[in-house]
Amino acid sequence: MPSHDVLIIGAGLAGQRAALAAAEAGSTVAIISKVHPVRSHSVAAAGGINAALNPEDTWESHAYDTVKGSDYLGDQDAIEIMCRSAPDEILWLEHAGVTFHRNDTGHLGTRAFGGASAARTYYVADITGQEILHVLYEQLMKHHEQLDRYEEWFATDLLQDDEGRCVGAICRNLRDGHLEVFNAKSTILANGGAGQAYKPTTNGLIVTGDGIAQAYRIGARLMDMEMVQYHPTTLAGNGLLITEGARGEGAWLLNAKGERFMEKYAPNKLELASRDVVSRAEQTEINEGRGFPDGTVALDITKVPKRRTLEALREIVNIGRDFAGVDITAEPIHIKPGQHYIMGGVKTDVHGRTTIPGLYAAGEVACVSVHGGNRLGANSLLDTLIFGRRSGEHAAGLTRHLPMPKTPASKVKDTEQWIADIIRRPAGARRVAAIKQELGQTMNEHVAVFRDASGLAKALEVIRRLKQEEPNASIDDRGAIFNQDVISAIELGYMLDVAETIVVAAQERKESRGAQFRTDFPAREDEQWLKHIDISLNGDGPQISYSPVTITQWQPEERKY
Ligand SMILES: Cc1cc2nc3c(=O)[nH]c(=O)nc-3n(C[C@H](O)[C@H](O)[C@H](O)COP(=O)(O)OP(=O)(O)OC[C@H]3O[C@@H](n4cnc5c(N)ncnc54)[C@H](O)[C@@H]3O)c2cc1C
Repeated sequence: MPSHDVLIIGAGLAGQRAALAAAEAGSTVAIISKVHPVRSHSVAAAGGINAALNPEDTWESHAYDTVKGSDYLGDQDAIEIMCRSAPDEILWLEHAGVTFHRNDTGHLGTRAFGGASAARTYYVADITGQEILHVLYEQLMKHHEQLDRYEEWFATDLLQDDEGRCVGAICRNLRDGHLEVFNAKSTILANGGAGQAYKPTTNGLIVTGDGIAQAYRIGARLMDMEMVQYHPTTLAGNGLLITEGARGEGAWLLNAKGERFMEKYAPNKLELASRDVVSRAEQTEINEGRGFPDGTVALDITKVPKRRTLEALREIVNIGRDFAGVDITAEPIHIKPGQHYIMGGVKTDVHGRTTIPGLYAAGEVACVSVHGGNRLGANSLLDTLIFGRRSGEHAAGLTRHLPMPKTPASKVKDTEQWIADIIRRPAGARRVAAIKQELGQTMNEHVAVFRDASGLAKALEVIRRLKQEEPNASIDDRGAIFNQDVISAIELGYMLDVAETIVVAAQERKESRGAQFRTDFPAREDEQWLKHIDISLNGDGPQISYSPVTITQWQPEERKY
């Protein structure tokens, strides 16, 4: 039975950074991932990572931009920590081997990103996530004596002792289907987001909210769940992302009349206003009939010199050609807002501690909250690394004096039964994929850029019906080896839980702030709603409570770009 000081569930940037920190602090570490670690979704991150590293820039300016971007819902103590630590983290990555872009003078070069008052995004062409993920993975190898990698293992349940402390997890080896109890003195969730609860989404098939739902199911508090980011530039239909780096390099947004419509909505920052503002502007143009017949507006990347596009945006040149049949160096490409990121997640403090003793969370699964109502582009990679490291360090410190928990191996029996029941489900019921499709389309229709009471009520009704159908959803594969059907059936339950909490929180917040725009409550109401909505599981359903927003030095102001 594997036993480690620190168990890390998830091997994207947050998980790998946490693993390195815990190993460097002397802990024994297990890091598990349902896919090979370098296929974790962080690999898709394109545009870059923010830090105020240039001598003319300051961490205070980065922090202020982040607070303003969050529509004042971000916790300013956490934002200060993140922005102060950013320059050292970039240098640490550089020294570890990340080949950040260098400018003509040989210095680290930056590109502009939305909502930022300085160009402070460090990048590797448009494969920044892939580059960092591979470098961290190499670094993990150095610690092979104390760090065990469990690749293609799936965590199904978190374990608690009699006092409610998290003492590890039950995991299934995907290669042969066998289950193991993983004992751990502390457990860090680094499972990433929940984008697959929407359709389309920029997120890959593996991003199914497992960590959020598993923590919720054992009583952890979630926070800011209503805040779901729609990215302004995604391909209609398949949801593929055209990185914000394109606008950072100078691309324009145009409506079907050829007007640069952002002049109306954000006269100072134009295309580089924050994402919630740009997505709403696009959706307004589309809804008011100034979009194209396919429900899109255009992104004109021909404004960027062709040589620069081919050098710095080569992935989206490929995406445009392969998935839209468009040469982005020669003509505009049609785009629309699409689900991209979830600002909410498992509530943590600045050390990554959740409300369950022994359980930490970091990265997109967590809500510290540094993004509040709206995340600035290129702040997520930073969040994964800073709070991944901090969680790893804190968990390692905590475990030093704790005895190793010893959950009996028989604890897997319930999970064994659960999986056996899924495999034995009779054919003929509605399939997992069909339920997932209805969920995703419902969320995209009613819980998107614009929301109102009646749409949210419809969404909740559908989710609750799907929750009743889910336990019978049929699968085809009845084997043990790499049975992805079983995994999809389990993930469907996680996505339904996450979707329910998103909708319940969106119903509760009767104002518009950041990514939550209620057409029936269009104003921001600081007096009543400058607070976090927390959600925890009570019996069968979500229960709401509130927690205060931490304000250190930036009082709420009207938000203009
Ligand atoms: C297309 C795209 C482009 C982006 N570009 C940028 C950018 O340029 N800059 C930026 O700052 N942000 C960007 N983002 C956001 C950013 O990439 C993500 O928020 C971030 O990488 C999430 O990292 P993570 O470590 O939290 O999770 P992930 O990288 O998603 O990793 C999750 C890990 O958890 C594992 N896992 C999940 N569930 C289980 C389970 N049940 N059992 C075992 N393992 C499990 C997975 O296998 C994986 O290893 C982008 C996002 C997308 C979708």
